[in-house]
Amino acid sequence: MSSTESPRPKPGIMDIAAYVPGREKVAGVDKVYKLSSNESPLGPSPKVTEAFAARNVDLAAYPDGAAHELREAIARAHGLNAGNILCGNGSDELLGLLCQTYLAPGDEGVFTEYGFLVYKIQILAAGATPVSVPDTDLTANVDAILAAITPKTKLVFLANPNNPTGTYLPVSEVRRLHAGLPKNVILVLDAAYAEYVRRNDYEAGIELVSANANVVMTRTFSKIHGLAGLRIGWMYANEAIIDACNRVRGPFNLNALALIAGAAAIGDRAHVERAVEHNEIWRDRVCTALEELGLAVTPSVGNFVLIHFPQTAGKTAAEADEYLSARGYVLRRVAGYGLPDALRMTIGSEEANLGAIAALKEFMA
Ligand code: PMP
Repeated sequence: MSSTESPRPKPGIMDIAAYVPGREKVAGVDKVYKLSSNESPLGPSPKVTEAFAARNVDLAAYPDGAAHELREAIARAHGLNAGNILCGNGSDELLGLLCQTYLAPGDEGVFTEYGFLVYKIQILAAGATPVSVPDTDLTANVDAILAAITPKTKLVFLANPNNPTGTYLPVSEVRRLHAGLPKNVILVLDAAYAEYVRRNDYEAGIELVSANANVVMTRTFSKIHGLAGLRIGWMYANEAIIDACNRVRGPFNLNALALIAGAAAIGDRAHVERAVEHNEIWRDRVCTALEELGLAVTPSVGNFVLIHFPQTAGKTAAEADEYLSARGYVLRRVAGYGLPDALRMTIGSEEANLGAIAALKEFMA
């Protein structure tokens, strides 16, 4: 079949660099510790398995397209109104839905230099123009974002905490960003890692949504809830945004098992607390161990750390990646984010963390 004869995609599509997920397998290595996708080492709440066992799912029937039960469960857990919640097939889908719904060709979508790659992909897929704003010290710079706003700007994406840097903007800065935006620009607060922020001032992001018609918060079950495989995300926004996105969304965008699992997981506060505690203890230990090896680590509030490697031959990030993956420890290359000298490591199980550090120690010796 000749691909050269295929009709051309619409403008912008061939400018997209396809998203490359973290590797799961390494040729010739039997046991792989995947520390490349920020998944939870604790897995999902036991309440998910219990809910599966208790429910007789009719796989021949379409799932509830409006995700009533899941939205109610999320609303209960966070003290929100279910009418302000829309669920997605992962928060990735919601980021795309926002772009499809609010961006037309000629419009601009703004995101930060080291922000999550999906923003640029979805802005281009919507036929709009991506605008990347320089960070300062690997952290979003509110003044620079505000300076990038033009009459064409319709969406501003801020991952907070940010992936892959792990950096965080305090709520005072997020408020200042929102205050500086025109009312016709939607601020999308991507809070995929929110639960790991011990200060809990991400809940102030929820207040910002409640008080304003142009702020959206996206959340996920993929990280703290350990359910990345089922693809469950949600967003919190005012009714007008929910209504507009509902018109665009696929009719049955979450499958029947995801709907049950999400509703069971969100109520298990103790499991979330265990995952936060595990992450805090091990993030500290991992950072200390890496620094003892002479490696610079960007202070992180997420469930991952960004490790900076020297540019000395034999010690580079690319070589570290080869060395570690040959021993079964798969970290994430972040060259695609403009960080060729760094690797991102998910905080994993005790065994995975200690093994990766031991392998890095040999590598750095
Ligand atoms: N936002 C950020 C900042 C992320 O890191 C991720 C996952 N890599 C997502 C959104 C998407 O998560 P999901 O689609 O699994 O909900």
